[in-house]
Amino acid sequence: MRITAVTGHVATTQFDYGNPAGPGGNLHLQAMDTLLVRVETDTGLTGWGEGFGFTLCATTRDALERLVAPACIGQDARDIPALMTALHRRFHNFGRNGAMTFALSGLDIALWDLAGKAAGLPLHALLGGRRRDAVPAYASLLRYGVPALVRENAARAVARGYRHVKLHEVELPCIAAAREGTPRDIPLMLDINCRWDTVDQALAFADAVRPLGVRWIEEPVWPPEDADAIAAVRARCGLPIAAGENCGTVEDFRRLLDAGAVDVAQPSITKIGGVTGMRAVQALAAGHGVAVVPHCPYFGPGLLATLHVLAAMEQETPLEVYFADLARAPFPALDPRGGMVAVPDGPGLGMEPDPACFAA
Ligand SMILES: [Mg+2]
Repeated sequence: MRITAVTGHVATTQFDYGNPAGPGGNLHLQAMDTLLVRVETDTGLTGWGEGFGFTLCATTRDALERLVAPACIGQDARDIPALMTALHRRFHNFGRNGAMTFALSGLDIALWDLAGKAAGLPLHALLGGRRRDAVPAYASLLRYGVPALVRENAARAVARGYRHVKLHEVELPCIAAAREGTPRDIPLMLDINCRWDTVDQALAFADAVRPLGVRWIEEPVWPPEDADAIAAVRARCGLPIAAGENCGTVEDFRRLLDAGAVDVAQPSITKIGGVTGMRAVQALAAGHGVAVVPHCPYFGPGLLATLHVLAAMEQETPLEVYFADLARAPFPALDPRGGMVAVPDGPGLGMEPDPACFAA
């Protein structure tokens, strides 16, 4: 199965996350971009992946199409470890965390989609087989910065069936508002996005939120690769710590784990090297007795591939889903129902992206 083309396609859709008043916080998004990676082969099979792009999809696509794609033409799509290792080595001097590794992550996911399609098996079967028909989702709320909006949207998430709610708020009145808007048995995850400059600031924050029923504190301090600082927070704060979405390589994860920095490892499949990187991090985390709850607040093949990973995991683990309504989603069937997402059983990723959502 030889590769004949590798192309990137940006899907842009309007995006409504329940913030009608406009910018209330510092992250007011109205549209969401997804970088789809398409790999075509001489068998006629086509695979789909996703490289992290967020608001910079064109940059990841540039790395993909100008450097990665020419190196893939004529290569055997079936030997994923050999091809991916060769590409990571060849392009390592363009950065081990950023557009190049995001592009390679998207390629890897597409190769796993192709592997499943060639075998006539769903991706989860290649990962050991699914242990459940549906995976619980957790609602990942964007930052509103206004207590009334946080309260309203947290309550809406629970009304839609979500049993876990994550906030990206840093102001205590906003976090307290989420607690007011949700039943006490709904755990709150608090994603700080590296806001605090010092360990002491993070510890003071942890003291303030401890009574609110916190499942974990995510990325408490800047910079995200300061494993020792995160470990210092974890050692003293008395709440579980989650981190890892900003790791570019499995070696980055090894440093976090060796430092004792995390209770919850959060590899992002569109950044860490696709399915191959995700599996390597899962093995590493298992060796440290650390839970893996992937980072995946996106809507394309990366979300779908993460769903297959979670379907095959021994421990039931929630899927991160942005709490937002899209005008045109690449995979409408991934929208949670009653807080659950059904696991597809078709070959590969089990779904094809809606061609209406991106430019060919
Ligand atoms: Mg995060």
